[in-house]
Amino acid sequence: MPAIDKTNWNNPAHPDFLAGFYFECACGEQYREVQAAARCRKCRTYTYFGYCTHVTDTRTGEVVWGEEPTEEQEEQARVAHEQRMEQEREWLKEEEARWEAERQQYFLQKELEAAELAEDQMWDIQERLTVG
Ligand SMILES: [Zn+2]
Repeated sequence: MPAIDKTNWNNPAHPDFLAGFYFECACGEQYREVQAAARCRKCRTYTYFGYCTHVTDTRTGEVVWGEEPTEEQEEQARVAHEQRMEQEREWLKEEEARWEAERQQYFLQKELEAAELAEDQMWDIQERLTVG
């Protein structure tokens, strides 16, 4: 099974709540209809391809939609997936640096505002003392 982290594995004996859910998509989720399985959104996360490649009828074990990827295609998809993940990690690192810079800028701004306010208050006090 070409799933990355198959968290939705179901008992092959089909517990009652799965009755009628015969169509299994590429990530292992089970559906009542072939078209619903083919459009599985979990496959985006749980397969290396990022989309549903094939749907299997669990009663017969037959592929009823799409095409089961070969081991070679699976390996290519895995490599591409790793590259995408690496790009995403780099992007996230850049974003985190940007967020941190913005956060620091915010605190600096707040500090400057507080200093300005304190200065204004001191001027007010001095004014009152000189006039009185
Ligand atoms: Zn799926």
